[in-house]
Amino acid sequence: MNAKYNENMSNEHVAKKKFGQNFLKDRSVLYKIVEAMPKSDSIIAEIGPGLGDLTKFLVDVKSVVAFEVDTDLCQYLNREFKQEIKTSQLTLKCGDVLEAWQSELLDETYALVANLPYYIATNIILKALADPNCEYLLVMIQREVAEKFSASAGDKNFGALSIIAQTVGTASIVVHVPPEAFDRAPKVDSAVLLIQKHSSRDNEAFELMLRAAFTQPRKTLSKNLSSRYEKESVKAALEQLELSASIRPHQVSTTDYHQLFKLLDI
Ligand code: SAM
Repeated sequence: MNAKYNENMSNEHVAKKKFGQNFLKDRSVLYKIVEAMPKSDSIIAEIGPGLGDLTKFLVDVKSVVAFEVDTDLCQYLNREFKQEIKTSQLTLKCGDVLEAWQSELLDETYALVANLPYYIATNIILKALADPNCEYLLVMIQREVAEKFSASAGDKNFGALSIIAQTVGTASIVVHVPPEAFDRAPKVDSAVLLIQKHSSRDNEAFELMLRAAFTQPRKTLSKNLSSRYEKESVKAALEQLELSASIRPHQVSTTDYHQLFKLLDI
């Protein structure tokens, strides 16, 4: 679909599906994102500024470093934010953020605030959770993915992503957002997810245990874990934690998963 966006934009920008371009146009949602930003001294990293609708709000309150892969949009943003770039209120980095992102995205503490490209959203969130310089994430993503990160034990969406998020911080949904809030409406519902970190992902073996635990979510935890650990050790660990042999993976709390890991990964 061809879409004409910003009135100031001299050229028509055709939304590029391959870059996951859905531009957030509902100002009430933009306000909610800015209002939900926790108090912090960190600068902001924005991934995918697009036509700069969110960026405009962000540069008003903080210094921003924005990463945009689309060269047409980069040219547009360079013109539109000429003044902010001149005063270093905005630093624009053109290129694929995943290529620029080594173990740290920036070499100082930052908060990730963005309407993310959905095709790489989970990957970006997991990288930010592992990045010691990332203080918190406030990101618009597919609603289904937001619910996986923020689910509590016992919910049907509770899984490895929820446990990873709860291990490094607290996750909550700020607001649900319908497709009509965007120009080029996405086919899915969206939500703004907030994850406030108190530490970072650094335990690969724990996450491998989680992967085993949720391989077949409808099967018992005992059966799933036995694909990675001795059946007898799994039985003994569950007994020690007073967890039933028939318990399903989504019924076990994050704390109990950490206890299980201590007992099994020796
Ligand atoms: N922030 C804008 C808004 O809210 O309207 C645009 C959000 S749009 C969902 C996602 C943006 O991410 C697009 O501008 C797209 O070009 C950009 N993008 C996609 N893949 C990227 C990548 N690998 N690195 C950096 N930016 C990327």
